[in-house]
Amino acid sequence: MCRNTVSISWDGFMYDCDFNQMLNLKVALPENHITQFDYERLSVRNIVLNHHCYGCTAGSGSSCGGEVA
Ligand code: SF4
Repeated sequence: MCRNTVSISWDGFMYDCDFNQMLNLKVALPENHITQFDYERLSVRNIVLNHHCYGCTAGSGSSCGGEVA
């Protein structure tokens, strides 16, 4: 998800994904509000990674159903 979408909170801040949004880890840019949306800058940003990362790939990343591999 973080490679081709962003999550937007109710107050307009952008996050790499919904996991990062729940942890309040905003996109790693000074322009992190939807009013400052800049596709070129967003497309080359560094993704904010943390211990939860790759949990998003459970069930091949398609749902929260999970998968044992
Ligand atoms: S949890 Fe980590 S790897 Fe998964 S979409 Fe979010 S930032 Fe990307």
